[in-house]
Amino acid sequence: MKKFFTTLILFVFVFALAACNGKETGGKGDAGFVGISMPTKSSERWISDGENMVKEFEKLGYKTDLQYAEDVVENQVSQIENMITKGVNVLVIAPIDGEALTDVLEKAHKQGIKVISYDRLIKNSKYVDYYATFDNFKVGVLQGSYIEQKLGLKDGKGPFNIELFAGSPDDNNAYFFFDGAMSVLKPYIDSGKLVVRSGQTKFDQVATLRWDGATAQARMDNLLSAHYTNAKVDAVLSPYDGISIGIISSLKGVGYGSGKPMPVITGQDAELASVKSIIAGEQTQTVFKDTRELAKKAVEMADAVLKGNKPEVNDTKTYNNGVKIVPSYLLEPVSVDISNYEKVLVDSGYYTKEQLTK
Ligand code: BGC
Repeated sequence: MKKFFTTLILFVFVFALAACNGKETGGKGDAGFVGISMPTKSSERWISDGENMVKEFEKLGYKTDLQYAEDVVENQVSQIENMITKGVNVLVIAPIDGEALTDVLEKAHKQGIKVISYDRLIKNSKYVDYYATFDNFKVGVLQGSYIEQKLGLKDGKGPFNIELFAGSPDDNNAYFFFDGAMSVLKPYIDSGKLVVRSGQTKFDQVATLRWDGATAQARMDNLLSAHYTNAKVDAVLSPYDGISIGIISSLKGVGYGSGKPMPVITGQDAELASVKSIIAGEQTQTVFKDTRELAKKAVEMADAVLKGNKPEVNDTKTYNNGVKIVPSYLLEPVSVDISNYEKVLVDSGYYTKEQLTK
């Protein structure tokens, strides 16, 4: 009897855990069954992406299975395997590690399942049909140009001290963001108007595995104690709001924002906490990518491939995944700071005023 209850409790627990990270929903599913594989719930954007896609797919009569892998690559692979077993017709995937899905997509292909790469490019597989994303190079350009403009570099001001951060080395986007930002910043580094006191300017030196804020905070702590005890940081290139939060904690720890002014700090995703931080004068900028639009695009693509139609694309050159160029649709990112957050984020209904002021 005791064993029975232990097993029952275990079963309920496992079931609850599964329900927590994933959800099967939908109408009758007459139109088809879609597997949506998202990287993590630790960042708001992926939660909105998932919810928005479910909503859009349901409108068209699809049933969905939405799963989050909590940034563990093996979880994502087994969640996708499960979706294949359950008989999905199409997979929409934002990979954790872009290079880890080759085998599982081979399986999907054998079952005739179509694949849409979502936001992040799936590498090394010919079975990626389409890619819905933002203009990722431009995201970096917006971050770099913001620093350029805020510091007055174009007007010849400087020299200023800057430190650089990049995203996760297993995410193709991270290279695009960094290259975009460096396309603006590198000439100033070369001319000495921007000084990287740590000397760390290569992607590999500044990357942040899994976009982890705590990892970035630890690196910033080291940079500050090794290179800034007698100098001040004027700008930090940060690729993502979660990383900016870590950098800001580190800076506050040594008096920035109270005695010393905060440096110019960029970001990405317009996450709630970071927009509030912009309002509070801590983070300076973020890049807004409207996940509602991206979800719509991905749903349109999936719907078109399932119906045997050609989805609309606007880029057939940029995203070579190592095996093929994946036809893509790129949406426009928007730079947001204190001067335009209300117009971009509140007027568009992305956030309510109350959410930002609470
Ligand atoms: C996404 C960004 C996001 C980052 C961390 C990237 O692939 O494009 O929007 O900030 O992952 O989640």
